[in-house]
Amino acid sequence: MTVPPGPAAQWLDDEETKPAPGALRQVQALINTLDRESGDDLLADPADAAPWLIANNLLDPDDDLAAEDLHTIVGVREALRAMTIRNTGGPAPSAQALAPLRQVAAASRARAELTDEGTVSLGPDGTSVQARLLEVLLVVKDAQLDGSWKLLKSCANDECQWAFYDRSRNHGGTWCVMASCGNKLKNRDFRARKRGK
Ligand SMILES: [Zn+2]
Repeated sequence: MTVPPGPAAQWLDDEETKPAPGALRQVQALINTLDRESGDDLLADPADAAPWLIANNLLDPDDDLAAEDLHTIVGVREALRAMTIRNTGGPAPSAQALAPLRQVAAASRARAELTDEGTVSLGPDGTSVQARLLEVLLVVKDAQLDGSWKLLKSCANDECQWAFYDRSRNHGGTWCVMASCGNKLKNRDFRARKRGK
């Protein structure tokens, strides 16, 4: 039996201009399965979604992807997006947006493990999609504790909302890519101001 590559090995290859560190990269990758500007959605079709979910540790390679599970994953994705919108100074996520993630939190159990060195880790109990989504939630928990969570932001361009990791010195980043989103909006504001005069 071969050992599946760890998260870092999986995600180093893809092109993300502002990648999140460590395991938070998995959360970012999940949110960015939807490109809102082009409408491209890696999770729109079960046949396309399954290989991506397996490669990103959200689906057991031996399991079939149930329509209901894909629905849950997409719901969790949008809950996470709503949470990152808050990190960019947007509104708090609505109860409706959080519902799929709350459902995962309520339905799944975590298990504590202790290494030989005495390090304690929490992980999901099982390999179901629900259990793997709980692991995503545990990554968010750790990131909230170490302070990295609030830097996983959603692009302030409503049409974009791409998840990016804010490495700017003052942590005031607002756009996924300044050239494509920030400047576009700035130009729009500028034109609107000119029209207003
Ligand atoms: Zn953007």
